[in-house]
Amino acid sequence: MKPLDLMTTIQIEITNHCNLHCCACTRAAGLQRHKYFMTLDQFETALISMEGFKGKVGIMGGEPTLHPDFLDILQIYRDYIPLERRGLWTNMAKWKEYEGTILSTFLQDRDHMLKNDHTGEGNLHHPMLMAIKDMVQDPVMRWRLIENCPYQNRWSASINPKGAFFCEVAAASDILFDGPGGWDIEPGWWKKRHGFEFKDQADRYCEMCGGALPVAGVDPHQDYELITPSIKEKFEEIGITLDYELIDREITSQEIEAVYRGEFRPLKHRKEE
Ligand code: SF4
Repeated sequence: MKPLDLMTTIQIEITNHCNLHCCACTRAAGLQRHKYFMTLDQFETALISMEGFKGKVGIMGGEPTLHPDFLDILQIYRDYIPLERRGLWTNMAKWKEYEGTILSTFLQDRDHMLKNDHTGEGNLHHPMLMAIKDMVQDPVMRWRLIENCPYQNRWSASINPKGAFFCEVAAASDILFDGPGGWDIEPGWWKKRHGFEFKDQADRYCEMCGGALPVAGVDPHQDYELITPSIKEKFEEIGITLDYELIDREITSQEIEAVYRGEFRPLKHRKEE
């Protein structure tokens, strides 16, 4: 897994509210029962904790522009994070309302402002609600895949009101599945470099996640989720109802071999990549 201090971006997730309800959302935004808006104090604490981090400190959600104090968030953000280390991930829900301030706060290239209104055809979402523990019975193979998870390797650690997490998908899972929360948001929490330093979180979230599974992406516009038996059981236990297709099979050796032949390229789920 990627050392956290070498990540290109660590996200501060200021809300998990979203105006969309995409299938296979990495934040399971349409399924979350515990909705939040990060307080300004929580946001500032998160920024202070990132002092010394060399990469970008991003603002993400949910849909961040839905935060009722979005302008105050940006004002505090500008005080702590220099222009070249800022990033915004938005579906542009309130673009017209905030356009001027957004454009003066962020650089406008794709590395610093990712605008995705999710209306386009052809982009796919990885089915994160297919638990790898249901589909890869061999624990050695399962953890070999998890340790090479393409999402933790290419994406971000993150902070939400429940703490700091080694992976942004894990952060959302903690809220979705009523987890115990992340690490304390204290200066330097992101200096964890070695797998054993985030093993507590990986053990808790990765087995229930599909991020490391070499499976095809799904259309974000479809109106049902792909889930596996343990996720179905978990949703029943915590009272989440949803439309779903149950995937009750093991991964094939051909699918696993595709990873090692370099044929499984999950970032190809995005048509423009
Ligand atoms: S398996 Fe899921 S929770 Fe674990 S690192 Fe990958 S995306 Fe994150």
